[in-house]
Amino acid sequence: MKTFYAEEQKRHDPKAFLSSGAAQPNPEQPDRVERLLAGAKAAGCEIVRPRNHGLGPVAAVHTPEYLDFLEHIYARWQRIEGASAEVIPNIHPIARNGSYPASAVGQAGYHMADTACPISGETWQSALWSAWSAVEAAEAVISGASAAYALCRPPGHHAFADVAGGFCFINNSAVAAQVLRRTASRVAILDVDLHHGNGTQGIFYARPDVLTVSLHADPVRFYPFFWGHADERGEGPGLGYNFNLPLPRKSTDAAFLEALEVTFQRIRAFSPDALVVALGLDAFEGDPFGGLSVTTPGFARIGEAIAKLGLPTVIVQEGGYLCDELGDNLTAFLTGFGCTSR
Ligand SMILES: [Zn+2]
Repeated sequence: MKTFYAEEQKRHDPKAFLSSGAAQPNPEQPDRVERLLAGAKAAGCEIVRPRNHGLGPVAAVHTPEYLDFLEHIYARWQRIEGASAEVIPNIHPIARNGSYPASAVGQAGYHMADTACPISGETWQSALWSAWSAVEAAEAVISGASAAYALCRPPGHHAFADVAGGFCFINNSAVAAQVLRRTASRVAILDVDLHHGNGTQGIFYARPDVLTVSLHADPVRFYPFFWGHADERGEGPGLGYNFNLPLPRKSTDAAFLEALEVTFQRIRAFSPDALVVALGLDAFEGDPFGGLSVTTPGFARIGEAIAKLGLPTVIVQEGGYLCDELGDNLTAFLTGFGCTSR
């Protein structure tokens, strides 16, 4: 199986992060890339650099206003006297029904959901190359590969059409799904990250052609709090095409695999032509976020189970944070999925 990744993806190097109000080092570190690359190579994957795909596939799921913000906000921020080195918002509209602000500070609050996604001078290019890795993986599958892996970093599933959040800027899984739609009439996205894929849900919430399914730690007391509950089912023509399966904290392999079978019923009933797996590895028992208790052999079983759906599949990297087993967990998933035979 091919792994798509570009060196530019490593340049985004966020420093700050507020956790329960306290300043902490940002967990979405460039070193994640080294461990994930090692994990992909250990699974027998060939590493391939994506091409520059321009703004087209990104603009297919994000608004022009938001992309303009992402591209230019860092330079604008530097002109504010006394501003922080990274773009970090400190004011947000409580509802997004007011006017669109002209100022950099106002727009940062409008387009950034939280403090976990600081923007530096390198962020825009890193996020673009991350998205282009997803585009290239989707195009490989369109061209006949049974599966491809996009080593997307920074990750994407918390990014809405016009909002960054939770370490995410461009929604790589959504970009991949939209590219697959060039030839597939129905695409399913299965998000197995520890956290609910709220951005992905938001992007496709009113659409019946992309089924969004997310399996995650119950958001009643966990990020992203406001989304990921079982009663969020889609709206308008998309009603019934969003499926959330919240799990109790510290759920183990057995509970995760059982829930995965439930999501498969929904996916099979939808009868998609292609699948995107939003692969977070932070459901791991040793992940710094500590939300669920999936083991390394558990990831192999998850990969094996997903492969049995028998669908052309784009695997898009989402979360999974620094711990000794991060690379091993990717190797386990890809090996279980049958990486070497694809
Ligand atoms: Zn996550």
